Amino acid sequence: MLVEARLPADAPLWDESGIEWAGPVDVRLKASHAGTGEVVVRGVIEGALAQTCRRCLEPVTGSLEHAVTLVFVSSDAPGFEDDDGTHVFDPGGEFDVSNAVREELMLAVDKYVVCDPDCRGLCPTCGVNRNTDSCTCTVEEADPRWEALRALKNK
Ligand SMILES: [Zn+2]
Ligand SMILES: [Zn+2]
Repeated sequence: MLVEARLPADAPLWDESGIEWAGPVDVRLKASHAGTGEVVVRGVIEGALAQTCRRCLEPVTGSLEHAVTLVFVSSDAPGFEDDDGTHVFDPGGEFDVSNAVREELMLAVDKYVVCDPDCRGLCPTCGVNRNTDSCTCTVEEADPRWEALRALKNK
C-alpha cells in the first residue's frame, strides 16, 4: 500500500512543532503488514525548510530529505498498549501518518542552523547585523586582573 501525501506548509499539523516550511511537504511512504497487527511504513519525507539563523536571525532556507521507518500498531491488536512513542492506527478508520510524520520530523530537523559557518551575528549592544553593517560599539572585556586593580584604586 502506498501512502502519498502533500502536507501544506501552513497545515495546523505544524503548529507548535517548531518547524517552519517554505513550501509543501511531500510524504511518499510504502506500508506493509508485518506480524500481528503491525504495519511497517518506510519512505521519504521531503520539503523546503524556512529557518532562521540563530546568530543573525536572517532567513535560512534548506531542503530536507528524510528517510523514515515507522512501525504502527493496530489498536485492536492482542496485548495492545498505547506507550509513548508507539504509532497507532485504527483498523476500521483511515490510515493517517501525519502525526507520526510530525513527531519524526520534530526529532530530525535541526532547529539551530546558521546562515553561514562564519556568520558574525548581531552586535549584542546595538543589534546591527555584523555581516552587513558595522557599528562603533566597543566590546568591553571584563578582565579579572583589571577588576582587581580597579578595586584597589577605589579604596
Ligand atoms: Zn547568520
Ligand atoms: Zn553595535
